[in-house]
Amino acid sequence: MLDMKWVREHAEEVRAAVRNKGIRLSVDELLARDEERRRLKRDTDVLRERRNRLSNEIGRLMGDKRRDEAQAIRSETKTVNAKLAELEAELRDSEERFGVLYELVPNVVSPDSPIGRSDEDNVELKRVGELPAYPFEPRDHMELGELHGLIDVPRGVKTGGSRHYYLKGAGALLHRAVQQLALDLLLERGFELLEVPLMVREEAMSHTGFFPLGRDQAYRLDGIDGYMAGTSEVPLMMYYSGEIVEAETPIRLAAASMCFRSEVGSAGRDVRGLYRVHQFAKVEQVVICKADPAVSEAILQEITANAELLLQKLELPYRQMAVCTGDMSQKTYKQYDLETWMPSRAAYGETHSSSNLHDFQARRANIRYRDEDGTLRYCHTLNNTAVASPRILIPLLENHQREDGSIYIPEALQPYMNGLTELRPPCE
Ligand code: AMP
Repeated sequence: MLDMKWVREHAEEVRAAVRNKGIRLSVDELLARDEERRRLKRDTDVLRERRNRLSNEIGRLMGDKRRDEAQAIRSETKTVNAKLAELEAELRDSEERFGVLYELVPNVVSPDSPIGRSDEDNVELKRVGELPAYPFEPRDHMELGELHGLIDVPRGVKTGGSRHYYLKGAGALLHRAVQQLALDLLLERGFELLEVPLMVREEAMSHTGFFPLGRDQAYRLDGIDGYMAGTSEVPLMMYYSGEIVEAETPIRLAAASMCFRSEVGSAGRDVRGLYRVHQFAKVEQVVICKADPAVSEAILQEITANAELLLQKLELPYRQMAVCTGDMSQKTYKQYDLETWMPSRAAYGETHSSSNLHDFQARRANIRYRDEDGTLRYCHTLNNTAVASPRILIPLLENHQREDGSIYIPEALQPYMNGLTELRPPCE
């Protein structure tokens, strides 16, 4: 959420963000609604003051036993009260109409973010690692999964419906191993680990900026005020909502959680395998810091480097993308994606997303700190994937396969793999 006073004074910048992020909002209408509710608020205040003056006057006249004069004022009070009730109802309606539009206002974007319509306009910043060259026909992760008995999609679909899966044996171990490796990496870097609620209130979704625009991505729970969180960013950020925090040292939080997403709008896309599923595990890094753009920019680099280190430990080739305005969420100020090489796609696929939200989310969640001169200010907040599985299993299995069908397990994962250093096809 942006400060409305700032929006009024920077309407052109807000118009540009609306346009560049492709958000359906008329800034002119927002400003008109804002003007209307402020006018109604002023009129209501004037009338309230008048009513208070009249009732004081009645009290004074009654004290002087001037009942007739008091009676005359009482009838004027009645008229004022009726008008006030009307205005208050108008003000409530007007605030509501304004609120619907205000919720849609996007964050502005950093000057170095590319302007574009979709992920096709994201800009590559660097490539790291050699792409594999196979002297044989490589298998995709589903063929490898079947060969090694790691992935079972038909039974997943039988149980959970489309876009569901089981992971088995070494497949389930790998899924846990990448998460534990990511958690250990974050713990070493001073992140505090939390186990978090994943059934969250509607308020948690809107305070963290996932509603209203991401409403169709969330699974709603029947009969209670609750949704399944699509990422632990929601409960991690909500932990400090409504609080005044110590932000001199950035607060670094991490969680490993399941994520639940409806993926509406992706029918027919990424239908094979584990790329796009309804339930996946993610280790998330979240940081809350003071509202200093230099500090939050440094943290954006830091959390992106954490994800890069993980990919380097997994010995996977990847590239870093500067995400364009049209591929960013409403709340984002600046974003990088990391894309990992996926041989079956003959392309890099997104595996990590790293965002600086400036104070947009903290303003919604009401997370503040006191700066050096004691003034209360909204914090800056950031988030990034440390690892998301099973998507990361795609590059992991595909890049590390050998001609004989065996799969190399990167050294950094071996301590978490129950003694396995490679996966050998069962027929051997
Ligand atoms: P996000 O929280 O949307 O920034 O996504 C972070 C990461 O989670 C992505 O880069 C993917 O690796 C993974 N991810 C997101 N959506 C899905 C999905 N539907 N299925 C599998 N993995 C996903």
